[in-house]
Amino acid sequence: MINIENLHKSFGNNEVLKGIDLTVQSGEVVVIIGPSGSGKSTFLRCLNLLEQPTKGTLLFEGDNLLAKGNDIDRLRQKMGMVFQNFNLFPHMTVLENITISPIKVKGQSMDEANEKAYELLRLVGLSDKATSYPSSLSGGQEQRVAIARALAMDPAVMLFDEPTSALDPEMVGEVLSVMKTLAKEGMTMVVVSHEMGFAKEVADRVIFMDDGIIQEEGLPEEIFDHPQNERTQDFLKKVL
Ligand code: ADP
Ligand code: MG
Repeated sequence: MINIENLHKSFGNNEVLKGIDLTVQSGEVVVIIGPSGSGKSTFLRCLNLLEQPTKGTLLFEGDNLLAKGNDIDRLRQKMGMVFQNFNLFPHMTVLENITISPIKVKGQSMDEANEKAYELLRLVGLSDKATSYPSSLSGGQEQRVAIARALAMDPAVMLFDEPTSALDPEMVGEVLSVMKTLAKEGMTMVVVSHEMGFAKEVADRVIFMDDGIIQEEGLPEEIFDHPQNERTQDFLKKVL
């Protein structure tokens, strides 16, 4: 589904991504771990072209995302993104947050968009919150709405950037549980997370990123129980 070769990204003189190669299969769950500042967010943002890579190849369902004249908006619609800080529209109800893009961008009728939104609210366990405003929700509820909103566009892949890092500990589980459900349903997912339990249980593959490159990758049990790279070993000592 996604094919990345020799991806580079610099901000001025600061080379943040130094040649990333990664292939993500349809239905695969890839969890990216690594220290702060290692380029994980920049990498996700390059995947859906929120950042323009400096160099490299980026294929999505066979389309070259970096080719000139590509319909970036259409491709981006196929990638749902969930951020650390939810980014819900504060002046809109939960239902409006979820339906605005399907209506405005995809041209769905309000009925069609509402029906899908209620289905997604059931999936994330928030059927009773359709008419609530984000300010009345807990962080965990807001993040579940953000996931529903991304899913409403019917993406082929979901990108998560530390979706539970801003949450109080007691709310982490409810968000991870929605993500587990999605994974079980076969959603292709690329997840940056410090939740090692989630990675162990759900990841098909774990990527350890440091200093702008993939230092090590493998099955969860390989990375967590038998890390080969010294940097991976050091990182895991600190977080486990
Ligand atoms: P991580 O998500 O692993 O913590 P980031 O991708 O956020 O790492 O950041 C990696 C590096 O890229 C940092 O040094 C950061 O300062 C730099 N960086 C990220 N975004 C920008 C930007 N928009 N402009 C300049 N530098 C940036
Ligand atoms: Mg980050």
